[in-house]
Amino acid sequence: MTSDASPSLPEAAILPPGSVIGIVGGGQLGRMLALAAANLGLKTHIFTPEHDAPALQVSDAATLGDYEDSAKLAAFADKVDIVTYEFENIPADSVTLLANAKPVAPPPAALAVSQDRLDEKRFLDGLGCAVAPFHPIDSLADLRAASAHQGGHGVLKTRRFGYDGKGQWRIAPETELEAIFDALSGRPAILEGLIAFEREVSVIVARAANGTQAIYEPIENSHENHILRHSAIPANLTQDHAAQAADMAAKIVDALDYVGVLAIEFFVTQNGMMVNEIAPRVHNSGHLTADACFCGQFEQHIRAIAGWPLGNPSAHSHAVMTNLLGDEVADWADLARQGNAKLHLYGKQDAKPGRKMGHVTRLTAKNPA
Ligand code: AMP
Repeated sequence: MTSDASPSLPEAAILPPGSVIGIVGGGQLGRMLALAAANLGLKTHIFTPEHDAPALQVSDAATLGDYEDSAKLAAFADKVDIVTYEFENIPADSVTLLANAKPVAPPPAALAVSQDRLDEKRFLDGLGCAVAPFHPIDSLADLRAASAHQGGHGVLKTRRFGYDGKGQWRIAPETELEAIFDALSGRPAILEGLIAFEREVSVIVARAANGTQAIYEPIENSHENHILRHSAIPANLTQDHAAQAADMAAKIVDALDYVGVLAIEFFVTQNGMMVNEIAPRVHNSGHLTADACFCGQFEQHIRAIAGWPLGNPSAHSHAVMTNLLGDEVADWADLARQGNAKLHLYGKQDAKPGRKMGHVTRLTAKNPA
């Protein structure tokens, strides 16, 4: 679904082919953004601390430096026309430095909201999006009171720097709260009520500077050991739930005056759609859009931040994406033989257990309407 902008909104600055997109972060998301930019004749310059980052193999230029290194960040900003990022955990001061030098998209305020689970929950709640009940946790007394309030069941999460289940603990009535609180090591946290969800879906949405939006159909996700395993379209979702998710997605990007692609993870519950979290970037669950949709999330993000018209997010195929974790990547030759399997390898050397080494998207024809 693509919606038209209100005519009163300003036209975005357009970056012509040959312009340089600065990408903070050099992982697989940066790599796939760089490939999509190259297809549109745009150049990419990667900022990363890692000399062997996957994005470096497919981009035009790189600055190697720590995310706190203000001299390196300034030198990087000097060489690019716009700055974007492929992960959330960029220090706030570094984002401010970049934003003072060059346009940054998605907007730094969206990054700030997604970096702190408490701010994120308050923002979503304020917009009228359903979220899990949540309690700020700064002391053992807070944790005891919040746990009692949730009937002893919940999920304790650090407010910042959590991903793939890191910085998260399930709480049950028998849990020794003091030990769990100690595991926080003084980090601020929130306790969420435990949600009995039926399934998990995500919605990828893009917004252009002039307010135009492109919303992808909901994607159904399954996790193993807190890591995404499969994503699929179409999701097993009622039309009503799909419409609720799309409405919330539209509201969230408008409220953030967002530019670029944003991912929203939902719990599907008996009472409707509930937002789990938002990510101000392209997202693992959206990888299938690159092969199954007319314009995939990577090209869409580049189009949005470069001020180009948004592409068509509609799916032309059904799809199931499977992450290749650790040594599963050794199956590449078998996968390459499968005619309907689109194989994506990230060029990483070290296949550590659980590490995302690539993914495969299997396409099937959509049933005729
Ligand atoms: P998150 O890091 O917030 O995306 O959480 C990782 C995973 O933990 C989610 O995809 C859910 O499967 C599960 N989870 C997170 N929060 C809750 C909750 N409040 N209730 C039940 N399960 C949750």
